[in-house]
Amino acid sequence: MFIILKSKKNVFIQVRNLVKIVLLLAIGLLIIAGLISLVYKPTYSVTLNGEFVGYTTNKSKLQKRINEYLDNGDNDNTAFVDIDVLPEYSLCLLKKEVETNDDEIFNKIKSQGTTYYEYYAIVLDDEEKYYVSKKEEAESIIDKLKEKKSSNIDKIAYTQVHSTELKDFTEQDKVVTALYKKKQTVYGTGKSAGGATITYSRPDLGIAFTNPTSGTISSRFGLRSRGTHTGLDICGPTGTPIRAAASGTVSYVNYSNVSYGNCVKISHGNGVETLYAHMSNIYVTEGQYVGMGELIGTMGSTGNSTGPHLHLEIRSNGSALNPEYYIY
Ligand SMILES: [Zn+2]
Repeated sequence: MFIILKSKKNVFIQVRNLVKIVLLLAIGLLIIAGLISLVYKPTYSVTLNGEFVGYTTNKSKLQKRINEYLDNGDNDNTAFVDIDVLPEYSLCLLKKEVETNDDEIFNKIKSQGTTYYEYYAIVLDDEEKYYVSKKEEAESIIDKLKEKKSSNIDKIAYTQVHSTELKDFTEQDKVVTALYKKKQTVYGTGKSAGGATITYSRPDLGIAFTNPTSGTISSRFGLRSRGTHTGLDICGPTGTPIRAAASGTVSYVNYSNVSYGNCVKISHGNGVETLYAHMSNIYVTEGQYVGMGELIGTMGSTGNSTGPHLHLEIRSNGSALNPEYYIY
């Protein structure tokens, strides 16, 4: 009984010694680890296709940034970004004074990527004419052209584009204006009572026009039983502002024209001019430059007129064209 007790005591002492040794070893390792951590930091060395590109201490943060870039690129129209190889990471101890360079690694990976964009082309006669960012815009352009009963609507469509090239986008309204074609029913030329030639065609004048006034159309352009109407009549109250339909130089101002009354002509270049007749006030002088939409006078009933209206003409090399083909 006594002997057994003694040997139990021996085992107890041996275990205690073992614990002591383990403890000492652990403390020793901690001290070594502490000393190492004073000089070194755990770091990931990053390689791309076997080539060293840099060090990072925060692997997950860097990889998250790379993944986000591959999904979204840096543009709204990115479909995805394709890179040939993904970066590889290996853990290492790096001296503390060596700098990590997440930005450099990211930029290097980014520079090796190919961005695929997704956007929409508006197609006329199977030819891509304009580009818009979103499908809704493309649909809205087609809808607007349908609504306006554009005569070329059957030739216009949209298509999704996937390309590594990003095109310039055009605003919806500009695409609609550029593609819109009014239905033409009458062709040929005629002569007005006053001798002016009128033309029933729609030559491309290369000029952007805007509606010069507000009101309702009271008389259209064209041959009539009694002579010919060389312009478009828009009627409204006396004093309604009249603005330049396009930018140009005021080439003619007359306060007493027998038929046109108070009248202004603006020259837009390329032999194109606009004429505004029957005005109550004129605010411009000959030789003055006016921008598109600039106030030039007010609506009236001067000259050969039975009520306040604007008689508007568009002439190309002296021949009157239908203003409704350009302004609507
Ligand atoms: Zn008229």
